[in-house]
Amino acid sequence: MIRVTFLGVGAALPSPGKTNCAYLLEADGARILFDCGPAILQQLAAVGRTPGDITHVFISHAHGDHALGYPMFRLWWSLSPPGWLTPVVVAGEATWTHLRALWAHCYGEIPGFAFHEVALPESPHSIDLTPGIRLSTWPMRHSTMFPVLGARFEIGQKVIAFTGDTARCDHILDLARGADLLIADSRYAHTVPPERLDQSQYHCSAQDAGEYAMQAQAKRLALVHIGPEYQGRQADLVAEARRAFAGPVSAPEAGEVIEIG
Ligand SMILES: [Zn+2]
Repeated sequence: MIRVTFLGVGAALPSPGKTNCAYLLEADGARILFDCGPAILQQLAAVGRTPGDITHVFISHAHGDHALGYPMFRLWWSLSPPGWLTPVVVAGEATWTHLRALWAHCYGEIPGFAFHEVALPESPHSIDLTPGIRLSTWPMRHSTMFPVLGARFEIGQKVIAFTGDTARCDHILDLARGADLLIADSRYAHTVPPERLDQSQYHCSAQDAGEYAMQAQAKRLALVHIGPEYQGRQADLVAEARRAFAGPVSAPEAGEVIEIG
């Protein structure tokens, strides 16, 4: 059984209760934290977890809503009794520059301890995260200064795919191909006012998410990173995605769990 817990689902400035995007992927004995925004300690506590429960961290890019919690996450080991497992932390090479600076600027006086750091190229790449989990990443289209890696986790025959933050980008099809669950940037909408077309150079719309899910033949679609302008109208964005994609679509709430069996 694969469990995806939506720790947070909001945009950079999230709606009340949504907090910033972060997910906990539990499968094959691993507990993988995807992204590490400023509320990460509270987000983990809200679902009964601590950083010490996490075996792997993947950070998609260095924008604050996805990475600002990294020093606080890492601080946990400095202030906890010794003996806790430390996680493998995976991020793109460019993102690592910022993660190391964040730590240095926040708690650089604290002696280092062993985090296993994996730096991925900003080009299509695959690694075995565990003997049973294959991670493939692709550069997405979002920011020139803060490159984003989208991710595809293959766990046995199952696939969980995360676009991260991205505008329309062909690599979404690569990572989402046949996915059992596609978790997709849906920052704005075409059919729900206000139409924030200014966001289209940085993010996808709900319609884009539906089109990619359909083209990639994903089995299920979750809309995330929905902008605060659409608070209370998530169902309208779900309806927009459904115009393109016939499979199940939802806009999960923070704390919601999707199980893939
Ligand atoms: Zn971003």
